[in-house]
Amino acid sequence: MKKPTAHIIGSGFAGLATAASLAQKGIEVTVFEKNQTIGGRARQFKEKGFTFDMGPSWYWMPDVFENFFSRFGKQAADYYELKKLDPGFTIFFENDQRMDVPAELSGIYEMFENLEKGSADKLKKFLKEGEYKYEVGVKDLVYRPNLSFTEILDPRLALASLKLDVFKPFDKYVAKYFKHPFLRKLMEFPILFLGAMPQDTPALYSLMNYSALTDGTWYPMGGMHEIVKAMESVALEQGVKFQTDAEVEKIIVKNKKAKGIQIKGEEYRADVTIASADYHHVDQFLLEKEHQQYTPRYWDKRHLAPSSMIFYLGVNKKIPKLNHHNLFFDTDFEAHAKAIYKNPSYPDDPLFYVCCPSKTDDSVAPIGNENIFILIPIAVDLEDNEELRQVYFDKVMTRLEKTTETNIRDHIIYQKSYSVKDFKKDYHSFKGNAYGLANTLFQTAIFKPKMKSKKVDNLYYAGQLTTPGPGVPPSLISGMVAADLVGQQVFDLKKDYVKNAQDDLELRIT
Ligand SMILES: Cc1cc2nc3c(=O)[nH]c(=O)nc-3n(C[C@H](O)[C@H](O)[C@H](O)COP(=O)(O)OP(=O)(O)OC[C@H]3O[C@@H](n4cnc5c(N)ncnc54)[C@H](O)[C@@H]3O)c2cc1C
Repeated sequence: MKKPTAHIIGSGFAGLATAASLAQKGIEVTVFEKNQTIGGRARQFKEKGFTFDMGPSWYWMPDVFENFFSRFGKQAADYYELKKLDPGFTIFFENDQRMDVPAELSGIYEMFENLEKGSADKLKKFLKEGEYKYEVGVKDLVYRPNLSFTEILDPRLALASLKLDVFKPFDKYVAKYFKHPFLRKLMEFPILFLGAMPQDTPALYSLMNYSALTDGTWYPMGGMHEIVKAMESVALEQGVKFQTDAEVEKIIVKNKKAKGIQIKGEEYRADVTIASADYHHVDQFLLEKEHQQYTPRYWDKRHLAPSSMIFYLGVNKKIPKLNHHNLFFDTDFEAHAKAIYKNPSYPDDPLFYVCCPSKTDDSVAPIGNENIFILIPIAVDLEDNEELRQVYFDKVMTRLEKTTETNIRDHIIYQKSYSVKDFKKDYHSFKGNAYGLANTLFQTAIFKPKMKSKKVDNLYYAGQLTTPGPGVPPSLISGMVAADLVGQQVFDLKKDYVKNAQDDLELRIT
């Protein structure tokens, strides 16, 4: 008997999670990816003995990954080795001051208390509230598609919103607990990197601090792309097929029903289509105007999470003062945040992040060398050219060399940059965003672009521009939720197939 079929557009975390989950439900699934390799923003490349992760590098919320693998009777350890980083990460502040954030909570309490008397007890309370939000918010609420208000009318969240300042601005919430500027920056940076000014972000997102500080920061040996490979293996085990170098040009719609996709002029039919490529691209460029869920004006009014200017460097010596994750907050935090979110422009003195995975993993650089990834968060849609990239490369290298007291520039044996133009070209990214939509109050939960098309039946969306939002764990959740949402419809389709098969059989018998 013929199985129901589904096409997935895009092979990032969301596409992979959707594909594996749908195939497990007995659906014939094919993933179509425009690039030569799968993984989307988490692709990897190798040059001169170095292995570079192109995008994500922080492994937080390990329970979300385990939740995905457990659906298939597996665990992350079946596919990759996870190492807990200690220190979890390092922050460099003005005047050569640094903060090494310990892996264990006991060490974190001690660090807080040393910086601000009484702050360890306050942190305990902060984390207790974060834990509640995590339990209600992540373990339950985000595993829902948020199609309507009723889904968030959960009594526990209603209670939490009264009790835990869920909707209070994040900066005020943090300021209620901590005075020391280093502690405030430590708490606010994940918000800043993933989506909005702390004053525009609901305090709900302190659940991220909870996860980061209590579960710790992890690293999959071999790099973040190991997660992609693991998810690909799970998908293949479930029978998913992959087609790379397969850019979808159009979603075919007949009588308001998605019937399949078009690639290089050829039609590929399927019962259901799930688009995990950037929502804006799919909505505005793969559908006829009458089938678009949102207007260009709607999209223009969305607040996007930042884009990034990235440098991938192979360095032929060791840099002792660096750790695996290093945040350079030695300049004005507020000024940079405004340059991203308020007056989109290049910041004069950018904050930046340096990942040096060769501190943990010998496989990502030749022995005695260092693998360096530098990321400057920038506003979306900024002008992008080689001169600007060079200016910012010089700015960050000067500060990096000063802080680490090492000459790095003369030891670079491989160098590549990546920025706004590349995001647009490689991923059809809306305005060159790196992380999707900002986590502002009015773009949270039911206010995000919807997972199920209201204009076209059998068309669904997953990925970082829909619920629950940007980041690897949310994209993964998004894929699982989209698959569950499709599930009921496919169940109905299956009944149709069974009925058709029975009719067929009866016809042949008579
Ligand atoms: C530089 C960077 C650093 C990051 N750091 C972190 C981090 O440390 N931790 C964290 O949790 N998150 C991080 N993120 C965010 C995280 O990587 C993303 O949220 C997540 O990978 C998005 O997954 P996705 O499946 O939604 O989208 P994508 O990964 O973008 O996948 C969508 C796929 O669709 C494909 N596609 C687009 N158009 C078409 C078409 N027409 N036809 C076929 N295919 C198409 C694209 O090529 C792409 O492969 C980072 C992101 C970036 C860019």
